[in-house]
Amino acid sequence: MLARAHFLLSVLHTCLGDNAQARRHALLSVDHLPDHVPPLVRGAHLVILALSVDVVSRSDAAPYHAEALDIAAAAGDHELSRSVLNNMAYAAYQAGDTQAAGELVERMRRLVERTGVELRPPDLDTIARVQLLQGRYAEAERTLLPLVEPGTSRRDAEGNMLPEVLLTLAEAQRLGGALDRATATVARCRALSEQRGMVDVGARARRELARLHAANGRFRQAYEEQCRYDEESQALRSAEREEQARLAQLVFESREGQRETVRFREMALRDALTGLYNRRFVDAQLPALLSRAEQRGTAVSAALVDIDFFKRINDTLSHEVGDLVLQRVATVMAGAVDEPATVARLGGEEFVVVLPGAAAEEAVARCERIRCAIQHHSWPELTGALPVTVSIGVSSTADGRITAAALLSQADRNLYAAKRSGRNRVLGDPG
Ligand code: GH3
Ligand code: MG
Ligand code: MG
Repeated sequence: MLARAHFLLSVLHTCLGDNAQARRHALLSVDHLPDHVPPLVRGAHLVILALSVDVVSRSDAAPYHAEALDIAAAAGDHELSRSVLNNMAYAAYQAGDTQAAGELVERMRRLVERTGVELRPPDLDTIARVQLLQGRYAEAERTLLPLVEPGTSRRDAEGNMLPEVLLTLAEAQRLGGALDRATATVARCRALSEQRGMVDVGARARRELARLHAANGRFRQAYEEQCRYDEESQALRSAEREEQARLAQLVFESREGQRETVRFREMALRDALTGLYNRRFVDAQLPALLSRAEQRGTAVSAALVDIDFFKRINDTLSHEVGDLVLQRVATVMAGAVDEPATVARLGGEEFVVVLPGAAAEEAVARCERIRCAIQHHSWPELTGALPVTVSIGVSSTADGRITAAALLSQADRNLYAAKRSGRNRVLGDPG
């Protein structure tokens, strides 16, 4: 799934003209492929990787092309072989490497002869461009003519290739000296690209028109057309950049949105005063913990912690000092409890400590450490002569076979008993 997602993202970024991103995703799309993936799937991923790497370095792309070719040969997939050869030839053409481009086109031809696989418009366009590079203008024209004859709807239906093909044809005709034919072809290219909203090809058709005017000695018109091409292609570049910025913004916003959601979800489960988890968290966590313990037959303990004579602190000192004491108690508890444990504030001066895996005896011992840590904390700086202690009621299940409500109310009974028997103590289940 991950490999496939990166594959599609690479294709998307190629369409958007963001080659760096296209390359990044193509690399990840190959990285994430598992070993057992069908070879042709790996072949398809290698094809897009090679394409995106070709833009920066033909030598780096070469091994990917080569492996894709091997895969295609081993699988007898001639379509894939033809695609790879076409991509390699086009890259060579763009790099101005006439010899390599010529050899690759030759290989493509031999493949066609040997296997009967059909050349598609992108292949023929590449062949024609390579022929232009070789100065074989008339041949280039002949290569493309079958594609542009009216009524060749099957070929026309193959995506948006026709305007591109017409542009190559116009160039071949102009370079071959057939200026009238070239003019007609450019006009057709422009009409079609306008009709299909293909602004990029449309702009490049203007440049071709400017060159045609120049070839005809109409330099003023050539100059004017070239100016329009410059304007259009600049507008296009900035529109592309805007589009990319917009896309980047969308991606950014959705990531931020996810972060915010996580933050809010987290906030909803936290107590504002102490930063500990709140009752809502315990209500959700404890039942899940108990059912897992039941499946595994493991122990869980829950302890209710209540500050002794807390009202006195509020009354003699202040509500503000009361708040500070609550915060300090929270910090001391969180520091004194061993993992794994969850400490939460249920409300007021009551807290709960959930101890997964802890049976009765261990839980009481761990709560005793909490009680001690609070009793011996340096309270005088905050509360003067008033001591701060807690009473703790612990309840345990050996195997998770109890409801959260039952476990907590048994802990509450034990807390009540701890209070009644003198406070500042821990009481577990009777017996
Ligand atoms: P006991 O030892 O029996 O638990 O006595 P106590 O005084 O601690 O218990 P009681 O339930 O009588 O009083 C709890 C007090 O806690 C009452 C209430 O005003 C105070 N309180 C509850 N929530 C807060 C809070 O968020 N901040 C402050 N400062 N006080 C709070
Ligand atoms: Mg209380
Ligand atoms: Mg109390």
